[in-house]
Amino acid sequence: MKNDICNACGSSKLMHDMKIVDFGHGNVKNDLSVIVQTTDRAFLNKFEKGKLRAQICGSCGKVDLTVVNPQELWEAYLKNKSI
Ligand SMILES: [Zn+2]
Repeated sequence: MKNDICNACGSSKLMHDMKIVDFGHGNVKNDLSVIVQTTDRAFLNKFEKGKLRAQICGSCGKVDLTVVNPQELWEAYLKNKSI
């Protein structure tokens, strides 16, 4: 959910949909993600990934994280709990 003002300091200097990346081998940028394992096998495990997006306040630096696909993650989470 997008807010127009920072809920920490009240500033309106918010940056939306900022990508958070991890630098891998050769400085390859990988979107930082949350993962939910959806199988319990030792091999061929499947994961549901949720890329993170951040809303960052340009005044106080507060960062709010959101996943882009909460519904898929929730379903994977429920499935994982029943394994
Ligand atoms: Zn702020």
